[in-house]
Amino acid sequence: MKSRALIPWVVAGGIITVARRRSETVESRYSELANRLDAVLASTDQGLYGLDCAGDITFVNRSTLEQTGYTPESVLGHNAHALWHHTRADGSLYPGSECPVDRAVRSGKSEQILEDVLWRSDGTSFPVESSTYPLLENGRATGAVVTFIDVTARKLAERQSETQDAVTRVLGDSSSVGEALSPLLAAICRGLGFEIGLAWVPNADLSEIGCWASYVARGAKGAGAWLSHGVLAAGEGPAGSSLASGEAVVWRDLERQPPRRSVAPSGVPKSAVAIPVFGIASELVAVAEFFGDEVAVEEDVVDTLTTIVVQVVQHLARRSADEEIYRLREQFVANVSHELRTPLTAIDGWLQIVLGGEAGPLTDEQGKFLGIVKRNSERLTRLVGDLLLAGQIESGTFDLDLVEVDVAVLVREATELVAAAATGKQLRVSVEAPGAIIVRGDRARLMQLLNNLLANAVKFTPEGGWISVGVAVSEGTCRITVADSGIGIPTAERVHIFERFYRASSATSRGITGTGLGLAISKAITEGHGGSIWLEEEERPGTVFVVELPRVVREEAQL
Ligand code: ADP
Repeated sequence: MKSRALIPWVVAGGIITVARRRSETVESRYSELANRLDAVLASTDQGLYGLDCAGDITFVNRSTLEQTGYTPESVLGHNAHALWHHTRADGSLYPGSECPVDRAVRSGKSEQILEDVLWRSDGTSFPVESSTYPLLENGRATGAVVTFIDVTARKLAERQSETQDAVTRVLGDSSSVGEALSPLLAAICRGLGFEIGLAWVPNADLSEIGCWASYVARGAKGAGAWLSHGVLAAGEGPAGSSLASGEAVVWRDLERQPPRRSVAPSGVPKSAVAIPVFGIASELVAVAEFFGDEVAVEEDVVDTLTTIVVQVVQHLARRSADEEIYRLREQFVANVSHELRTPLTAIDGWLQIVLGGEAGPLTDEQGKFLGIVKRNSERLTRLVGDLLLAGQIESGTFDLDLVEVDVAVLVREATELVAAAATGKQLRVSVEAPGAIIVRGDRARLMQLLNNLLANAVKFTPEGGWISVGVAVSEGTCRITVADSGIGIPTAERVHIFERFYRASSATSRGITGTGLGLAISKAITEGHGGSIWLEEEERPGTVFVVELPRVVREEAQL
């Protein structure tokens, strides 16, 4: 026996001492220590074993034997790496020369492995996190102690929550149930280790189901085509059984219990799980069926799948309610705007007649009051126009009449339109719009865009401030900048600023009125011209809007 045999070999129920007894005193001390050590080792659920310099096992605790399925005799004195560390998680060979445990034994430095697997006596494996602590004698490594914990439950929990996140992302990215189904099945299969995922829809009397959507991993195409083919009667296969019972069903040995009546192609996974899907009125609306190898069908997986199914149903129910509300709001706004337009046109027409003196002469006071009525009716007409346009933009029925337009001229005209209002607030307005800058655009819409930005600059800049408008050209683009020294927009709210009806707190808290439509319309006009609009990040107070439009370069070359 080699000298390493002097180290006690501790196993589940006691100590096997292979050293020759030296003396009674030594033995009793030795035995007392060993008993204590034995109790400590047996009491922990952490796997723990000792190695000598050659990597051979010198002792193991109860937990190691229970977790690996080995008997004490089959491990003691055997090389640990060869016994249960020979293969990596991906199935490839794990050379002993690359093993951190062996490295720790050789180097005398401790090692931690966060992602590792150990192999059981029955050939299955389990994920572990392990640490190796070298045993040193006079600074020289004489072996090591290895501790490990089984991280299966933690890994499973991580996998489940990652899958739920992936499902949430798919739901967020897709606009309809039909569009979401296949990516959902893919996310669940990839996350939980299934090869095939099928979604089945029942007929009205729940007597049979047909396959609605599927995900099949590469390499399982033949099995996927077979499993998703045709119609299943209630009670047939895992999905049909789940339909019949209204409960989750797990089939673990598909070779002995074929999931379909026809003859199976090769490569059908070993296990299946089927989950009934109930709608918000508790009616059975679908069955989800997954196929994978045994490892994928652990107990917890049924719970995870049930949770995911509930998550999906609730999300879709919420979304269809939101969509309905949204649709009703759109319809309401469109109807109201349309109905308002007719009386407004009539008011405007009659006002023209009265103001023009056709209904008899007006006193100065009557003229003044009717002027106020006219201005307000024009405001209302603009508002209704904005509402109608916003509806058209939303429904994609918004048209542009494109001609060649000089943006520099347009900017000067738009600035003149707000000049009176700016002067009324003692705002300094500067314009820099050199030369002719030609874009292909809809003149009226571009004017509306500039007017929105400039009217906002006037509206949101307190008295005595300034507004600066600039047009500049660069390769193929024309850049319009509208800056002001006004109240600004809080940074956190900037992302919403181009949304319809959104109004920043800096405006609402000061009681400045508006509809929140102008910028949404401005964005649609800009994008309709192939351009972009954004809010520049600025250190100083105030706001800077930038619009960039594609430019007709031919015109510039002629200048
Ligand atoms: P409205 O001006 O009718 O409220 P808009 O869509 O034109 O609607 O603008 C949306 C919101 O953006 C405004 O309510 C305001 O909070 C903010 N905003 C737009 N332009 C400016 C600006 N120049 N300075 C500060 N805030 C602005």
